Amino acid sequence: MSEHDARASASKHATLLIVGASYAGAQLAGSAREAGFGGRIVLCGDEPHLPYQRPHLSKGYLSGALDATRLPLRSAEYYRERDIELQLGARIDAIDPARRQVHRGAVTLDYDWLVLATGARARPLNVPGVGLQGVLTLRSLDDAERLRVLAPAARKVCVVGGGFIGLEVAAVLATAGAEVCVLETGERLLMRSLPAPLAGYLAATHAARGVTLHYGQALRALHGDNNGRVCGAELADGTLLPCDLVVTGIGVQANVELATAAGIACDDGIVVDAGMATSAPQVLAIGDCARQPHPWTPDPGDLRGLRLESIQAANEMARAAAATIMGRPAPPPGVPWFWSDQYDLKLQMAGLGAATDTLVTRGDLHSGKFTVWGLRGGRVAAAYSINRPGEHLLSRKLIAARCAVPPALLADPQVDLGAWLQSASKGA
Ligand SMILES: Cc1cc2nc3c(=O)[nH]c(=O)nc-3n(C[C@H](O)[C@H](O)[C@H](O)COP(=O)(O)OP(=O)(O)OC[C@H]3O[C@@H](n4cnc5c(N)ncnc54)[C@H](O)[C@@H]3O)c2cc1C
Repeated sequence: MSEHDARASASKHATLLIVGASYAGAQLAGSAREAGFGGRIVLCGDEPHLPYQRPHLSKGYLSGALDATRLPLRSAEYYRERDIELQLGARIDAIDPARRQVHRGAVTLDYDWLVLATGARARPLNVPGVGLQGVLTLRSLDDAERLRVLAPAARKVCVVGGGFIGLEVAAVLATAGAEVCVLETGERLLMRSLPAPLAGYLAATHAARGVTLHYGQALRALHGDNNGRVCGAELADGTLLPCDLVVTGIGVQANVELATAAGIACDDGIVVDAGMATSAPQVLAIGDCARQPHPWTPDPGDLRGLRLESIQAANEMARAAAATIMGRPAPPPGVPWFWSDQYDLKLQMAGLGAATDTLVTRGDLHSGKFTVWGLRGGRVAAAYSINRPGEHLLSRKLIAARCAVPPALLADPQVDLGAWLQSASKGA
């Protein structure tokens, strides 16, 4: 019997219990089956919907370009065909690693492998008036439904937070004709994610579409009318911005409570090793809720690892967990990448831009098609492409190659960087 067959046979009587039915959980269920896991797979999620594509919520689903039928990640048949038991609307209340059990109300479920894929939730806004009608956030499909009901009637929208989700919402609602302002406490947009020239480019794009950007000021309070509906946002300097809809997008916090209560090590995320193992035996964690050691950490001396919030990371961690469960070495994480759609701009990012020392632009900002490369010690460490999908794909390879690239080559649109990389790799 091959080792693969032996592992598959050994897993026949095992139960893999996955808490959280979204990208990470659904990918793990599929990958575990694909890898030969022969036992019971239970995928438990507290949302009532089939696992769905969250990124659409602030993009095509909000704009109306996509309807709800396009949201599920996979069809119900997909799970049935693979004998993956979906338990939806099922919130797990507690886990007991010593007994290898989880609790849902009065129900107790036994497991051999437990995988926490509990994701993250929107960071709550903590100002007076946050409970008024018309103050929304956007993390789940139910949040998106609420926003889709209120958005068409909204005349003046205040978006709290100039991160990707806030800016995507601003773009959709401004395009639909609302007067939109964005409140950002930082000195500019996307301080941690984008270099200043690119953030400036995005800010100018929003301003050209009529969006007003307020920097460096916190929100002090939200005010309501006599019907309990939001009617104004008050800034720290006393400025009152009239609005009839507020959407908050001030980041997320990892859902670590189940793990913490069970005594599993957490540090802004459930701490895992390269195989996604937590500090408890037979318990793994993956996706937005997990902090993993990462080869692309900007500071290699930083031993805290990374907690990434992206589809790519969720899928890769799920595949790594499936490998661990099947007794194989986990594939290492790839170069991180992410995207954001705003108006007619597709921004695609690769690598992690912190601590880059040189920026090189390829293409013309005015054309709306260009890539900004971020170099660290002569090597490409990050790349930000606007409407340049080919260069984005190439940038992932250039970063992965960890080779020094002359800035003049990166800047020159006539240079075939793919061919250059091939010959550089051959020569290496
Ligand atoms: C509006 C929006 C736009 C985005 N756009 C992009 C994008 O363009 N590109 C990109 O890469 N990423 C994007 N993201 C981020 C991306 O969606 C996340 O990185 C991804 O969803 C993480 O998947 P996950 O499975 O780890 O966690 P989640 O998607 O957060 O899912 C975790 C699930 O577990 C459930 N859960 C939590 N606790 C329990 C419990 N105790 N019992 C049962 N179930 C539980 C949660 O309710 C949730 O359904 C976006 C996110 C949002 C909200």
